Amino acid sequence: MWDAVDHSCGFDAFLSVLWNLTSDRGLPWLSALSPDNDLLQSVSAAFLLAHHAPEYLEIGRDALRDKLVVIDPNAFPRRGTTGIVLTELVRVLLRRPHGFGSAMTHCGTCSNLVRHVPDLISTGLWPIDPFWWRTVFPQSPSVSAQEFVTASLDTPLSVPCSACGTQCAVSHELTSVPPLLVMESLPGTTITPCETVTAVVSGVSVCWRLVGVIYFGWRHYTSRFMDQQGLFWYHDGVTTARYCIRESTSYNGAWLSNARSRTHSHLVYEHID
Ligand SMILES: [Zn+2]
Repeated sequence: MWDAVDHSCGFDAFLSVLWNLTSDRGLPWLSALSPDNDLLQSVSAAFLLAHHAPEYLEIGRDALRDKLVVIDPNAFPRRGTTGIVLTELVRVLLRRPHGFGSAMTHCGTCSNLVRHVPDLISTGLWPIDPFWWRTVFPQSPSVSAQEFVTASLDTPLSVPCSACGTQCAVSHELTSVPPLLVMESLPGTTITPCETVTAVVSGVSVCWRLVGVIYFGWRHYTSRFMDQQGLFWYHDGVTTARYCIRESTSYNGAWLSNARSRTHSHLVYEHID
């Protein structure tokens, strides 16, 4: 339920997707997204209580906000009508100490070991770097989720060597499977939804299915999630509060790109066997 005094819509949107996915899959699924992440585990503890007392959804959200404002008061303002950038929330909630892969190379000039660990390796978050986009998709304001995944894994990142400053091409690869992929989509660098995306992890083709979408517009975030029967539900902390509205019965990428005059800002994919 939206906090009209201290605007909470970014939290409401992402946490409602996690809450609904967790309701179908169980709390161990949520905890396993990042077992050593104290912030995610505090959300899991609040969800456990909320099964019996729904007000713990808001109590848990506000406790999370109290912690985050101490960590980064600019990214996570606690009071007033300033919203958050949802990408920042995904990054802190899904970060894993050991990540999902490796990203390093030896400098061609001085042999120094050059490391650069992008979000997609450390968290399962796939944010958009506008400079990277202009290099990889120079003529395309929009690509599909599958094109984005493939290009992100196939394109080395240019990183300066910390010892000599030479620009080095750092390749990165996934060596374990992120249970969730959260892709950012921005105006002008838009990721269009695909029902599933695949990538190679340690030589094996792995598949993820779209199970959640976050929308942004008019300075407000809303969301949809897919239940285990494949039905899509809509949530808006302002208008639907603690409830979700049942909508479509089947996957439709164009329909999923928008909700109530808002455009998708994040796509949430879950690993499937
Ligand atoms: Zn060097």
